[in-house]
Amino acid sequence: MPSASRSVSRHAATQGVPSIITALTHSQIVQLSFYLCGMKLDILAIGVHPDDVELGCSGVLINEIKLGKKAGILDLTQGELGTRGTIETRYAEAAAAAKIIGVQVRENLKMRDGFFKNDEAHQLQLIRAIRKYRPDVVIGNVLDDRHPDHGRAGHMIADACFLSGLAKIETVGEDGKAQEKWRPKMILHYLQDWYHEPDILIDISDVFEQRMESIKAYGTQFHTSQAGEEGPQTYISTPDFLDAVIARARMLGKRIGVKYAEGFITEKKIGIRSLDALVLVET
Ligand SMILES: [Zn+2]
Repeated sequence: MPSASRSVSRHAATQGVPSIITALTHSQIVQLSFYLCGMKLDILAIGVHPDDVELGCSGVLINEIKLGKKAGILDLTQGELGTRGTIETRYAEAAAAAKIIGVQVRENLKMRDGFFKNDEAHQLQLIRAIRKYRPDVVIGNVLDDRHPDHGRAGHMIADACFLSGLAKIETVGEDGKAQEKWRPKMILHYLQDWYHEPDILIDISDVFEQRMESIKAYGTQFHTSQAGEEGPQTYISTPDFLDAVIARARMLGKRIGVKYAEGFITEKKIGIRSLDALVLVET
């Protein structure tokens, strides 16, 4: 195509579009449309502590975002009982990790770390968030783990996802209007400290380095080259912990013939559209 007509068609394509829009990058336009068209997400990843999502399912989030899905992260607590770092440093780290993963939004429900209950008040708080973001898939904490918060949150997430679909549970959104009922189609629970036999393994080999960068964004929590005066050594701050995170992904990957994978538990049966989804590499 001659350059003159190319510039004419480019002009035609942007005719009538305010210049401020044409000056935005692709990711800024995606972000803007998210806010203008309501906050519908494809995937909502939920973690009781900031860093749970990064450790549990950031690989899958990065993969799906690269495929064009809209994803967000919901932290239930501010992780204020963590031995190292402060609420402020954890917010800064969570924001940095969210940027690395590429999520549209990250919100914190500010429940009490260690002491929140899976009761009506907390479920309603979570239902409001689920109805706000209307995700098709929710990925949340595991149902039983070393840290009691993880299992309690996992059950609360499953309960709230179900209850959110009941029309007679009335909730009001941030705009003061009644929210529509919403039930996610699928809930996956990512693996955390204890090993549970996963129901589904997802290949994250292509995004493994980016996944590890999102985990290392929590410089006060995990062993990184920048770590310094964040506080006493903990279960998760030694180099051994990150080694174990890598080993887990490597072990799960080996089970499906790829280098790295993340594992998930689901209480519902998984339905697929094509046998292509089953065959990764001959093992
Ligand atoms: Zn945690």
